[in-house]
Amino acid sequence: MCSNRKYEYRIEPAAAFEILRYCAGCGRKTEYCSTGNFRVNANGRKVDVWLIYQCKKCRHTCNLTVYERRNPTTIPQKEYEASLAFDGE
Ligand SMILES: [Zn+2]
Repeated sequence: MCSNRKYEYRIEPAAAFEILRYCAGCGRKTEYCSTGNFRVNANGRKVDVWLIYQCKKCRHTCNLTVYERRNPTTIPQKEYEASLAFDGE
């Protein structure tokens, strides 16, 4: 029996990673989880896209950079539109 089959798998996380980060509200390192919301800021022709994280204990938020000073045309269109749709503001 010969088995030359090639299997390809694509593994995608079901949710954003949790991170350990210093929290100014708690005064120590705590776990932050993703809120699922983005913040998009346009500055001339460049945009910044952040994913908003939140301390699990005190809900202090921080922004994690996804794209920094990028021309929106260089960001995959689906990704850019999705981040605009989930812009928390
Ligand atoms: Zn905190």
